Amino acid sequence: MISIYDGKAFEQYFREKRWNPHLIRKVRNAYFKKQKEGKDIFASLSLEQAVELEKDLQVHSLSLKHRYDSQKDGAIKLLFETKEGYLIESVILRYESGRTSLCLSSQVGCAANCSFCATGKMKVVHNLSVGEILDQVAWAQKLLASEKRRVRNLVFMGMGEPLHNESNLYSALEVLHSPQFFDLSARQTIVSTVGIPEKMKAFGDKFPHVGLALSLHSARQEVREKIVPLARKYHLEELKEAMKYLLEKQEKPIMVEYLMLKGINDQEEDLEALSCYLEGIPVYINLIPYNPIALAPELKSSSEEIRKQFAQVLKDRGFRVALRYSFGSDIEAACGQLVQLSNRERKARRVD
Ligand code: SF4
Repeated sequence: MISIYDGKAFEQYFREKRWNPHLIRKVRNAYFKKQKEGKDIFASLSLEQAVELEKDLQVHSLSLKHRYDSQKDGAIKLLFETKEGYLIESVILRYESGRTSLCLSSQVGCAANCSFCATGKMKVVHNLSVGEILDQVAWAQKLLASEKRRVRNLVFMGMGEPLHNESNLYSALEVLHSPQFFDLSARQTIVSTVGIPEKMKAFGDKFPHVGLALSLHSARQEVREKIVPLARKYHLEELKEAMKYLLEKQEKPIMVEYLMLKGINDQEEDLEALSCYLEGIPVYINLIPYNPIALAPELKSSSEEIRKQFAQVLKDRGFRVALRYSFGSDIEAACGQLVQLSNRERKARRVD
């Protein structure tokens, strides 16, 4: 079987069959641009060719198990199953302005093990294949087509640390931005990382137009290590150096994500440390409310009042700041919440 996302194998298949190479574009357009499914993907081929290709081509790499529609806002959570039986999630965010974003997963589970995150508590880490990353976009486009909407913005902020699945992430980004395939804009794509300095620099070299968001969460080393255990390996100073390197390559501000946790990173000293750490670096700071998870009952979101105060002080000091709204709180849209138990059980069964 060849995957519809594997451009080289698909072209080789047509060469071996001695079929007209112009048909490749027609098949791809039907799937990637017109969201056709089943036999309609092959409508430009002869009946014989269509039967043959349908037998040899794998279209979807994931099966869509369920969709959860928020009753509060425009979020839709999509629940997928991989061939191995793992469950992953993506979230479509439909804004009133008409803009549509898709939050993508890059792994099942995550080795970063952030204290606030259900994905990090899965005790399993499995890299999604290129096809499994891309299929989340194909499914979202297909579902949105009935509303005459399309995904325009991509954010790798779902399950997993994307830079821990670097090679598949890179290949997927190339297909996402290729005019022959999804034809999405690199400038409207953001990859979020907890901060792996060497990989951040390599990313900036390879994808100067794709945005990078750094999940900072604290500018105090000891506090950050509690929130993001991976921070023990990478000191804040190394991260700052990586940010400066990226800025030379990308010539646009870096997004800094700051999840506001009551009593942990929302005190006066946290604000001072953040302001001091980012001074002179062109960044865009997102202050994010926390969606509680059952596995971390000790964590609470900072109050709206504190978040507003934090934002105001940072703005007064010249930073660009946005107070984020937490989409889909009624459908557990924060990554990994729905599926962590199922994936842990599957992992246990595989070990047995
Ligand atoms: S927040 Fe992101 S990086 Fe941290 S454990 Fe969850 S998925 Fe991994």
